[in-house]
Amino acid sequence: MYIVHVATELAPIAKVGGLGDMIQGLGKALAKEGEQVEVILPFYNTIDKKKLKNLKVEIEKLPSFENMGECQNTIWSADVDGLKLILVEPHHEKGYFNRGKIYGEEDDLLRFIYFSRAALEYLLKSGKEPDILNLHDWLTGLCAPLYKEIYQSLGLKIKKVITTIHNMQYQGQCAPEKLAAIGLHPESLLKKDKLQDHKKPERMNLLKGAIVYSDFLTTVSPSYAEEIKGEKGYGLGPLLIENASKFKGILNGIDTEYWNPATDLFLTEKYMSDPSYVEEMIEAKKANRKHLSKLIHIEYDKAPLFSVVTRLVKQKGPELIKHGVEYSLKKGGQFILLGTSFEDDVRTEFFALSEEYRDNPHIHFHFEYDEALAHQTYASSDFILIPSLFEPCGLTQMISLRYGTIPIVHKVGGLKDTIFDIDHEDIPVEKRNGYTFDFPSKDSLSWSIDRAFEHFKHDTKKKMTILKNGLKHDWSWKSSALSYLELYHLVIAKSR
Ligand code: ADP
Repeated sequence: MYIVHVATELAPIAKVGGLGDMIQGLGKALAKEGEQVEVILPFYNTIDKKKLKNLKVEIEKLPSFENMGECQNTIWSADVDGLKLILVEPHHEKGYFNRGKIYGEEDDLLRFIYFSRAALEYLLKSGKEPDILNLHDWLTGLCAPLYKEIYQSLGLKIKKVITTIHNMQYQGQCAPEKLAAIGLHPESLLKKDKLQDHKKPERMNLLKGAIVYSDFLTTVSPSYAEEIKGEKGYGLGPLLIENASKFKGILNGIDTEYWNPATDLFLTEKYMSDPSYVEEMIEAKKANRKHLSKLIHIEYDKAPLFSVVTRLVKQKGPELIKHGVEYSLKKGGQFILLGTSFEDDVRTEFFALSEEYRDNPHIHFHFEYDEALAHQTYASSDFILIPSLFEPCGLTQMISLRYGTIPIVHKVGGLKDTIFDIDHEDIPVEKRNGYTFDFPSKDSLSWSIDRAFEHFKHDTKKKMTILKNGLKHDWSWKSSALSYLELYHLVIAKSR
């Protein structure tokens, strides 16, 4: 099967969060199953060209679309990590992908609708005929209406279009005129059964367009699929209920080759992620922690080390993260907070917090994206806090389990599907792999941190049960990729 992903991230060369991991993990797993997979990605100037193999020009001058005058794109192809890439480099006066970052620009919407159109233009001009075109979030979801309204009649042949929803909070709402910038006639799309926003009828909603026009929709965990039919759907829940027959949650996996403490080049002391070698793992984690403590100038200590690795945005529960920092330090723990800050108010709050702890040798704050520090943090920590208010899937809990770091999570979305509390009597003992709390409140988080301290210090049996259960589960993409493949076949077979 020929599968094309149109995406805005790909780990590790262009990653902000879990979306990048998903494209890498699913893409590689499908390729391993013998499928032909391609990822179309913007050629960001932040991409390290040294990581691209066989980089070559496919099309020197691809017009963005028929009536866009001078603006052209160079289309490149390359291989990365066993995946075939198509890179779109626009020669646009605004330097759309030369911004030194992936998201967070005022014209993000224009940048990514431009990319969506260029991706379809490329497929048309290159004569490619994908069996599946898999789109991701509002960022490339516009390809679904673009294909059905324009490119199909121009001769582009795609068997089925699928959109994967990674986060319902971001929907790509915009003024209709914005779509005119890529040669569309917005008036025909500003309709209730097309792209018209559910709350502001004078505006467009790109995610809604993807939902309406796609042949099938997936999201990244079964629990999140249920939750977004309600209030976590940010207004699009009723539309998802209407489209329930073409909507399914499939749990993400992680790339277990990349996230493997036995081969991880960022670690000082490598170790097996294997329940039969827990003692060895505990020793190796100590060695990693010793090394990391020196590197980030915190005191090496035997107290439990808590961590957070996240985008620091409201979704991730910043108030609770802050409480987690204060509470675990007060109880005598240590903390590493690795958080990419995107939102001004959250950033200000956390900068102030880091100032408060400026001279404290038990905590380290880092507010940039740092791949090496993320790996070292997973390998050194005892516990990771994930108090997200909503979490479509969440990967940090799965990575942590693989690195022998125990997750403490709010029981929501994908966290609910992957983490099972050590003290919950109704859960089989062999599944219990962390701490969960039902309500995202400070008291619930404190209660879980209390239990973590208690078991860490005085209940080795429970601690070992959690660690072993976490290590024995296979979090790889294999089974999720097979679910995607089965779905792709089903969708293609339908109404042919
Ligand atoms: P989301 O997609 O909402 O950001 P996920 O838990 O699905 O959250 O995925 C987060 C991914 O991004 C993980 O691979 C995590 O290690 C990584 N990550 C998040 N913040 C940082 C950071 N500041 N530095 C390095 N890696 C990070």
